[in-house]
Amino acid sequence: MRHIPLLTIGGGIGGMTTALALAQAGFDAHIVEQAPEFAEIGAGIQLAPNALRILDSLGVLDAVNEVAVRPRNLVFLHADTGKHLTTIDFGTPFRERYGQSYSVLHRGDLLDVLLAACREHPKVTLENNRQVVDIEEHGTTAVVHFADGESYRTDALIGADGLKSRARQLLSDDKPVTDAYVAYRGALPMDQVDLPVEQDDEIIWVGPDRHLVQYPIRRGELYNQVAVFRSPSYRPEIEHTDRWGGPDELTEAFATSCVQVRESVKMFNTSRRWPMYDREPLDNWTRGRVTLLGDAAHPMFQYLAQGACQAIEDADCLARQLVKHSGDIDEAFAAYQAERIPRTALVQRVARGWGQVWHAHNDTPLSALRDRVFGRRSPDDFTDLDWLYQSLAV
Ligand SMILES: Cc1cc2nc3c(=O)[nH]c(=O)nc-3n(C[C@H](O)[C@H](O)[C@H](O)COP(=O)(O)OP(=O)(O)OC[C@H]3O[C@@H](n4cnc5c(N)ncnc54)[C@H](O)[C@@H]3O)c2cc1C
Repeated sequence: MRHIPLLTIGGGIGGMTTALALAQAGFDAHIVEQAPEFAEIGAGIQLAPNALRILDSLGVLDAVNEVAVRPRNLVFLHADTGKHLTTIDFGTPFRERYGQSYSVLHRGDLLDVLLAACREHPKVTLENNRQVVDIEEHGTTAVVHFADGESYRTDALIGADGLKSRARQLLSDDKPVTDAYVAYRGALPMDQVDLPVEQDDEIIWVGPDRHLVQYPIRRGELYNQVAVFRSPSYRPEIEHTDRWGGPDELTEAFATSCVQVRESVKMFNTSRRWPMYDREPLDNWTRGRVTLLGDAAHPMFQYLAQGACQAIEDADCLARQLVKHSGDIDEAFAAYQAERIPRTALVQRVARGWGQVWHAHNDTPLSALRDRVFGRRSPDDFTDLDWLYQSLAV
């Protein structure tokens, strides 16, 4: 049986960043990915300063910047009335406070940057068509079994295998949790976007049970949109079918929105939809030589745009702890989860709450409070962002 010292399952943003961070810390890093190619879906992703600082330290920020867009502002508008709610200015004060700006880019472009850096690094090895079907944990080693019947033995297994993680099943029998929201997303060539879009801004339209996110990606060549709404037909018994959240519900969900939102929603390719899931935070995600990372460890709703950013933080933390503990896996895994669980659990919980704030019904105390708090802050008031983006001043 082949022996791999450090083995990562999953070549998504989390796994790929982990391989790069481990390699740069001096460890051999091997990824097994079930898909025939390393790929991401054709939509955008937002990266906040907490992730960008790590990508900078990994030496890939210049490559990210070549394909990303750095929006001037994040503007919140009401989806029904079009009323301005608040603006976050990503200009100089923001950059000085957090050491980085805010970037939005195509997911495929981000993965390509990470993949290229991994391929160039002599300590990273990558394998596709490797689906893990079973994992045995034996205290000081773990054995991974693949769908093709082969097996690898490893001293340290990192499950970066996403929301439906196989590795997580070793630690918990919990299930993904949906709140009946479904997302449609995709990127259009900018010259096909027949909307009065503000190309320098990211815009989030929030309203009752729905929101729409819009921003340019790929150097401004594409326009990314994500429309999310609560499906009225969701029932637990039809959760794993496509009988809820269909395209007819998309149009209906935004029917009372302002004209710009309605016109934007018409431009979606509705052939694919993504039901939204998170999970309850775990208080332990390590067993023997198996640990979890990214969505496998702490899947979260996307309202804070932090799922991938937290996976990037995980990768950095794991590599740091392995160095700090001179490669002692048991100590490093324990220190890694001790550092990461409180933070990621908080982000998971706040993301849930943030969704409720966005989706508050009109004329309720929550929407009134939201609009008042939003309305009172100035664009360069970052007080409530420090905990997440980690102000360098605190
Ligand atoms: C609508 C939406 C918008 C979002 N927007 C943002 C955002 O703006 N910013 C942000 O930071 N985050 C965002 N997120 C969250 C982000 O997409 C995820 O947190 C992130 O992609 C997780 O990365 P990961 O590598 O942990 O998992 P994944 O991307 O799921 O990767 C897991 C990998 O493991 C592989 N795999 C799974 N099982 C096996 C197996 N058994 N054997 C081998 N390989 C396996 C999969 O094929 C996959 O390649 C958003 C999420 C959604 C749904």
